[in-house]
Amino acid sequence: TFDRTPLIAGNWKMNMDHVQAITLTQKLAWTLDDAKHDFGRVEVAVFPPFTDLRGVQTLVAGDDLKLVYGGQDLSQFDSGAYTGDISGAFLAKLGCRYVLVGHSERRTIHGETDETLNAKTKAAFRHGLTPVLCVGEGLEVRQAGTHVEHTLGQLRSDVAGLTAEQAAELVVAYEPVWAIGTGEVAGPEDAQEMCAALRAELASLFGDEAASATRLLYGGSVKASNAAAILAEKDVDGVLVGGASLDAGEFASIVRFES
Ligand code: PEP
Repeated sequence: TFDRTPLIAGNWKMNMDHVQAITLTQKLAWTLDDAKHDFGRVEVAVFPPFTDLRGVQTLVAGDDLKLVYGGQDLSQFDSGAYTGDISGAFLAKLGCRYVLVGHSERRTIHGETDETLNAKTKAAFRHGLTPVLCVGEGLEVRQAGTHVEHTLGQLRSDVAGLTAEQAAELVVAYEPVWAIGTGEVAGPEDAQEMCAALRAELASLFGDEAASATRLLYGGSVKASNAAAILAEKDVDGVLVGGASLDAGEFASIVRFES
C-alpha cells in the first residue's frame, strides 16, 4: 500500500515523430491492457514531443485509454509574440494533465534559470496543468558533497509563491544530472536521501499536510531491473524514465514494478 498514488512517467525527449508516437502509445496501451494494469493504483504518464500530442490525444480519447500525458516544457507566458514557444493554455486544450518544468536538458542547453522556472511552474498551475518540476545536481556538486543543499536551493526558488494547495498537487522529480542517460543510477538510498530532504523542505515551506501529499519521483537511468528497488523507498513516489520509456515492453515492466 502507498500513501500516495505512484506515478510512472516516460519522458520521450526529442524522439518519436508523430507516426512513431502512435505506434509506441498503442503498444504500451495494449501491453498494459493485456496485463490488466490498474491505472487507479499506479498512474502512467507519457511526455511526447509537442508535435505528437495531438495524435496521442486522439488515441487516448478514441480508445478510452487510461494513460495521461503532458508536454516536455511550456512558456511562462500565456500568448503573444514568443516565436517557437508553447503556451500552457494550448497544452491544457490538448488534454494534457502534466507538464515537465526545468528538466536538466532545459536548464543546461536552453539556460533556463530558477527565476524562469518559477514563472513556468506558476504558468502551469494557471492553466490547470500539474507541473512535474525537475531538480538535481551535476557531477561536480555531487563530488563536492553539497548535492542536498544545491537541490533544495533549486526547489526553494522554483516553488516560491505557490500556495499550500499547489504544493500538494505539485510533482517534484529528483534527477541527478550525472545519472541521466549515462547508465549510472543513483542507489535507492541516494534517491531516498534526497526525496526525504525535499519533503522536509516542502513541509517547512508549506506545512506537513501539503508535503505529505506531494509526489516525489526519482529519475536517472531507471529501467525494469532497478525500478522496484527505487520505488520501495518510503519517500519515492514514482519514477521519471527517459531512454527506457521508448521501448513499450520495458516501460510497461517498469509500470508493473510490483509484479
Ligand atoms: C530523463 O531524461 O528524465 C531521464 C531520467 O533519462 P534516462 O532515464 O534516459 O536517464
